[in-house]
Amino acid sequence: MTKQLFSFEFFPPQTPEGIEKLANTRKQLAVLKPEFFSVTFGAGGSTQDRTLETIRQIKAEGHNAAPHVSCVGSSRANIRAMLTTYKDMGIKRIVALRGDLPSGMASIGEFQYANELVSFIRAQAGEHFHIEVAAYPEVHPQAKSAHDDIVNFKRKVSAGADSAITQYFYNADGYFRFVDACRKLGITTPIVPGIMPIVRFAQLARFSDACGAEIPRWMRKTLESYGDDTESVQAFGLDVVTQLCERLLAGGAPGLHFYTLNHAAPALEIWKRLGL
Ligand code: FAD
Repeated sequence: MTKQLFSFEFFPPQTPEGIEKLANTRKQLAVLKPEFFSVTFGAGGSTQDRTLETIRQIKAEGHNAAPHVSCVGSSRANIRAMLTTYKDMGIKRIVALRGDLPSGMASIGEFQYANELVSFIRAQAGEHFHIEVAAYPEVHPQAKSAHDDIVNFKRKVSAGADSAITQYFYNADGYFRFVDACRKLGITTPIVPGIMPIVRFAQLARFSDACGAEIPRWMRKTLESYGDDTESVQAFGLDVVTQLCERLLAGGAPGLHFYTLNHAAPALEIWKRLGL
């Protein structure tokens, strides 16, 4: 059996307290020896410096760091400069995304879709980077159809992506169906499920509305019924997400990528319950 890969995603903190908190989170999660820590990138370059700085800190601590690079609103020159910086730092893995144009930003820049960014990275840096791309078991909200979305995903793989991380979801069957459909279209790359632990319901509902991830009705109704009782929300979340992870791993998922939102505790607890 091939080794299952585990990774944790952070956002680049803005304040000194946030930086300290994330350093502490990393320390706790590093014990689990993940394949890499990734750091998100605000589309249009809004977090460029903070993403770079966070990546620098992760690297300095001796861990594998994977910056996200989103291309919407960017120029080739800007992306080229970023790739050079990361290559010079010894970064070996990039999560390549289109991103979403921030409101108020008029120009989409020189890249329209993520497959163009993947091609550009390959043209600039050859095989230096392992390239991760995004995949959507529940269909990207702007896709014309589920099939179209997989064809577009395949375009990123043909452009040179090595593996994919999915948008989060709470329905394991949807993931397995998606992987089957990808295999039928000849996509052979690993497709690692993205896992969102449940910390606060209002925040989760907001994210899910924005990115098209479905919270199943039975989950939504249960979470709603807890109101401000965060302890119950989190206890329920841990049960549901652990069961999801168990099913995914038992069904052959090649690993798990945790959207940590810079918290260590939920991922640590899920990890413990999974007996990893
Ligand atoms: P694409 O693959 O370009 O797809 C975008 C849409 O266009 C899809 O609907 C697709 O079907 C369609 N499409 C693609 N190619 C074509 C084509 N040639 N013709 C017509 N339609 C096409 N966002 C950030 O801003 N920063 C981050 O750090 C970040 N990290 C993420 C990490 C992961 C693991 C995931 C899953 C998402 C992340 N996102 C991030 C969100 C992501 O940027 C958005 O979901 C965005 O809307 C799509 O990005 P993409 O790379 O999937 O785009």
